[in-house]
Amino acid sequence: MVILKGAEVSAKIKEQVQKDLMLIKEKTGRIPKLAIVRVGEKPDDLSYERGAKKKLESFGLETEVYPFPEEISHEEFKAAFDRINKDRHVTGILLLKPLPKQINEKEIDSIIDPEKDMDGISPENIAKIFAGDESGYAPCTAEAVIEVLKANEIPIKGKRAVIVGRSMIVGKPLSMLLLKENATVTICHTKTVDLKETCKEAQILVAAAGKGKMLNQDYVGKGAIVIDVGINVDEDGRLCGDVDFESIGEQASMATPVPGGVGAVTTAVLAKHLVKAAMDRLLS
Ligand code: NAD
Repeated sequence: MVILKGAEVSAKIKEQVQKDLMLIKEKTGRIPKLAIVRVGEKPDDLSYERGAKKKLESFGLETEVYPFPEEISHEEFKAAFDRINKDRHVTGILLLKPLPKQINEKEIDSIIDPEKDMDGISPENIAKIFAGDESGYAPCTAEAVIEVLKANEIPIKGKRAVIVGRSMIVGKPLSMLLLKENATVTICHTKTVDLKETCKEAQILVAAAGKGKMLNQDYVGKGAIVIDVGINVDEDGRLCGDVDFESIGEQASMATPVPGGVGAVTTAVLAKHLVKAAMDRLLS
């Protein structure tokens, strides 16, 4: 089984990002800036924030974290978010989710400037993904899966792709991105009755359920390519994916590890989006 390493895909994305960045610096004298908006101090958010900052800065991009207290009211947060949204020094925004219950997340999603919406949460960008229009922004994780496949020259056209998970941030947008690449796509979820059999038929199997090591060799068909989006903590406190990586070696032809797989590509896609936002502004 070939291990598909995220770092190699990320390095390829970095090359393109840095070419565009040189041009942006030359024309504007500015470095694109990502605003990372965080409410509260959830360990998952802090860890994603650290990873995103580190990756973007290593690509030569700027980041600024805007932290808010967990108990901030909806109105207060909306007003502050709108100020960041309208700040012309902010090229793109990453809003860490989920937000606390008192904040109406849908409303925030709907006010984010689609041109600064780096993780594809606005209705405009979601509509574009469904229309196969590449001018907007897809959620970084969903796009990272496509980047892993393309960077490793894995054909998608005509392949049977099965995604386990139907969230708005991974499963659903990814189904549209794979469809755009002409895969035949099936989405599985908690109510799927024949999960094992359906997964086994996949030529490209994407795990995005958020259930540690749930997919073992019984779910993987011979020669399948397995992309593991899951980030979980196992009983020993170690990071693990949704795939029982150790067990699938005989079945899968290629697979991404966790850590060191899709996660590293997700933040590289975030950098790619930020530079695209700056380029789009430059050209408009
Ligand atoms: P989510 O909880 O919003 O959605 C999980 C989906 O999986 C749901 O649609 C649910 O129906 C399905 N599911 C759950 N248990 C299932 C089961 N037993 N059988 C079939 N379907 C099942 O999660 P999410 O935000 O989409 O994230 C999924 C995973 O991806 C999590 O582990 C998360 O940490 C990880 N993630 C990774 C990255 C990255 O950069 N690699 C980014 C975002 C999320």
